[in-house]
Amino acid sequence: MSTHKVSAVRGMNDLLPSAAAVLQHFERLAIACLRSYGYRQIRTPIVEPTAVFRRSLGEVTDIVEKEMYSFVDSLNGDSLTLRPENTAGVVRAAIEHSLLHEGPCRLWYYGPMYRHERPQRGRYREFFQVGAEALGFSGPEVEVEQILLLQRLWKALELGPVRLQLNCLGQADERLRHRRELVAFLQAHRSELDADAQRRIETNPLRVLDSKNAGTQACLERAPRLMDYLGDPSLQHFERVQQLLRQERVSFDMNPRLVRGLDYYNLTVFEWVTDRLGAQGTICGGGRYDGLFELLGGKPTAACGFSIGVERVLELLGETVPQEPTCDVYVVHQGGATYEAALRAAESLRDAGMDVVLHADSASLKSQMRKADASGAEFAVIVGEEEVAESTASVKALRPATQSVPFARQERVAMNELAGRLLDALCAEEADSTQADARATASQAL
Ligand code: ATP
Ligand code: MG
Repeated sequence: MSTHKVSAVRGMNDLLPSAAAVLQHFERLAIACLRSYGYRQIRTPIVEPTAVFRRSLGEVTDIVEKEMYSFVDSLNGDSLTLRPENTAGVVRAAIEHSLLHEGPCRLWYYGPMYRHERPQRGRYREFFQVGAEALGFSGPEVEVEQILLLQRLWKALELGPVRLQLNCLGQADERLRHRRELVAFLQAHRSELDADAQRRIETNPLRVLDSKNAGTQACLERAPRLMDYLGDPSLQHFERVQQLLRQERVSFDMNPRLVRGLDYYNLTVFEWVTDRLGAQGTICGGGRYDGLFELLGGKPTAACGFSIGVERVLELLGETVPQEPTCDVYVVHQGGATYEAALRAAESLRDAGMDVVLHADSASLKSQMRKADASGAEFAVIVGEEEVAESTASVKALRPATQSVPFARQERVAMNELAGRLLDALCAEEADSTQADARATASQAL
């Protein structure tokens, strides 16, 4: 048997316990924000038939051309793909289960996505997205609702400056007219474009606008602008979005080159960007995709959605969220019968709603107390031979030991009073720290 170490797949990350607090903080606030706008969770499989993505994303996108993890199911020959994004899967599910039978619906999802990219900071092969899809809404209000939801989330997270960029992609016929002129322009300037852009002139010219190549970008300054080809209904839709955003005091930048990575968008598209993450500065992208239902075999249905890159947001949050203690109470013992009593005590404390770690091996009491201290617990409960003989446990406060803290001195408590006494002590602690927080906030406000 080989004894070589096995490592994770390149570009796929382990989330270690030290990063769990910040992730859970993000998840709590994101879910609360989504719920506060009436979005409900949907969970779809990580693996979908390859056709779901081929049909929806467009053949000439980065994802379909080179980033999909596709494979043949050797048991039945089906062509399957690990989802590179989740809008197509959600729409597939909405059609399959007639979710819009009773009217429009607002859905959110959370989970891993897979793209075979060149791994670098902010760009991984497995990464997480939280996204929302509003299905069956045609008015500009739903774009605004989603942007407000996101702004509320950035605020709640205290994310620091992120900018909203907006563009309008119009409708298919408007893009077609623009495309003709754009292709003519790009052909005339072929030599100034990078190889990828040259290749896309015929296949997907709008995506050339999205190029990150400096030479190509400079050339595009003079390219025909899609905005000049939009008819009144598209312009009015976009104007209404902007007007409502101004009313709600959301600042934004117009970015005529914003076309987004995926083909299925129309009308409003948006991205939230920051310059604090190096080259991968987009933390969220979204927009309207009224044509996607039909591409996947459904009835024409207006829809709009967004997706947040969780790793990028977590990187912005950094270490701002304090580590949470592992538990409220750490129970130590001397093995044998004292372990049995300690086990019973720990279970009864959990019954009362406390988070409890019961020491699991037979170390000395001194070394167990060091573990208790390192766990971040407020209190240690000691179940030694003397305690067991008189049906008691000793309780010791582990945090700053001033006289006012309950159990500042180690104290024996009858087993049947242990849960109640500890709960009271934990509540007193909590009230104390809430008061301290309030004092700090008040003094900041002065
Ligand atoms: P990019 O232009 O950076 O490649 P994209 O257009 O491919 O982005 P979307 O498909 O819009 O990205 O995905 C929405 C969000 O998911 C992005 O804004 C980003 O925050 C995040 N994201 C996309 N690809 C990755 C990845 N490979 N690793 C980590 N996060 C990603
Ligand atoms: Mg991409």
